[in-house]
Amino acid sequence: MTVTTDKPPTTETLCEARNVSHEFVMPNGSKLSVLEDINMAIKPLEVVALLGPSGCGKSTILRILAGLIKPTAGEVFYHGERVSGLTPGVGIVFQSFALYPWMTVTENVNVVLQAAGLPSNEISQRAENAIRTVGLAGFEEAYPRELSGGMKQRLGIARALSVNPECLFMDEPFSHVDALTAEGLRAEVIDLWQPEDQNPSSILMVSHDIKEVVYMADRIIVLSSHPGRVRTVVDNPLPRPRDYRSRESEQLVDYLHEIITGNELPDVPAAMHRRGVLLEPLPRTTTSAIAGLLEYLEAKGGSDEIFEIAAATDQEFGTMIAIVKAAEMLGFVDTPKQDVHLTPEGHRFVRAEPDERKAIWREQLLKLRFFREIYDLLRSEDGEVNAEIIYERIATAMPHEKYETVFDTMVRWARFGNLFAYDEDTERLSLQ
Ligand code: ADP
Ligand code: MG
Repeated sequence: MTVTTDKPPTTETLCEARNVSHEFVMPNGSKLSVLEDINMAIKPLEVVALLGPSGCGKSTILRILAGLIKPTAGEVFYHGERVSGLTPGVGIVFQSFALYPWMTVTENVNVVLQAAGLPSNEISQRAENAIRTVGLAGFEEAYPRELSGGMKQRLGIARALSVNPECLFMDEPFSHVDALTAEGLRAEVIDLWQPEDQNPSSILMVSHDIKEVVYMADRIIVLSSHPGRVRTVVDNPLPRPRDYRSRESEQLVDYLHEIITGNELPDVPAAMHRRGVLLEPLPRTTTSAIAGLLEYLEAKGGSDEIFEIAAATDQEFGTMIAIVKAAEMLGFVDTPKQDVHLTPEGHRFVRAEPDERKAIWREQLLKLRFFREIYDLLRSEDGEVNAEIIYERIATAMPHEKYETVFDTMVRWARFGNLFAYDEDTERLSLQ
């Protein structure tokens, strides 16, 4: 296919991965090869999509290009310069919104600008602009819980745009938003991108939704999995504004379907969204990271501001949120406004001896519906069940999470509290 977009062709690249491979070291020390020899570039004024099944490494590529993860091999370039550390010029929109629930809309934008080191007069101006741009004017003082899914992601986009990024990275940005709202937001994002003399110049989006990439992208990089490799790159020459239901769109969707044979892109059945079935996902955190946060707070006299904690502990934004959320789920901290406070349980935990800590941990776990359910199940099944049953429960209750990841976190938390254990050889959970 030839490219006939309204943007001029160019040989210059903004952001580029050269020979990037990545391995994760698993808890048992084994290595998981996730990406193999990825070569890709984002040029000015284009929308690029990474398309592939869940778990193929899309988010890992995005994080490597953003400089959030250092690849095991290969390099990242920005405007032809090798990047080490965070890639300049990139703003990121996360799938899970990554909002601070205890901050207002304005505060959620401010925190990003503060982290970027901007002076306070510029912060308020930029925050106001970004909030207006995404249509959240009038909601400045609202908290995330008061916003719909679509509005939460508008806020996510405002945060990314507030730093005026040359490249906007979006990781499955609309997968937690209802279909109709997602259609509207995609069109708005394209409208934001279209003026050539304004940032963002380019967009990199991660998606497992073929219709979405056909609507959004100029170029679609199709990935295969285990390990993630570039399978092929498909140009999308359809003129804008695009129509999901046009014959040309549908043809391209069919073509991409054919490439991705074997029906690798399952959608979450609607029934799983039913209220009451869903459980709050477990943030991917280790018990030691949570204990570390509590110890830090204790040393600070029981509370500290979230920015201070992030700076003092040198944590990435998303990691920090996950740790605080986990500690809050477990009842060890409260998070009024921008503060994180130890609760009485949190105080009790940090001051306890190791064995007592485990006992407190166990008590707190049993207050969580997810752990209580599994514990009760184990007791009704003579103390042992197959991991498969739990996988299924996780997949139903937390359809947007990777069940292996949730399972992994669950096992670690449970093991620390001597609640139950998992045997990898037999693939069975048992009471301790
Ligand atoms: P995608 O975004 O395409 O769904 P990811 O990039 O999130 O895929 O993950 C690719 C693979 O790497 C998956 O098998 C996932 O379980 C694994 N993975 C991702 N992050 C980590 C991590 N921090 N530690 C270990 N494995 C990880
Ligand atoms: Mg992902």
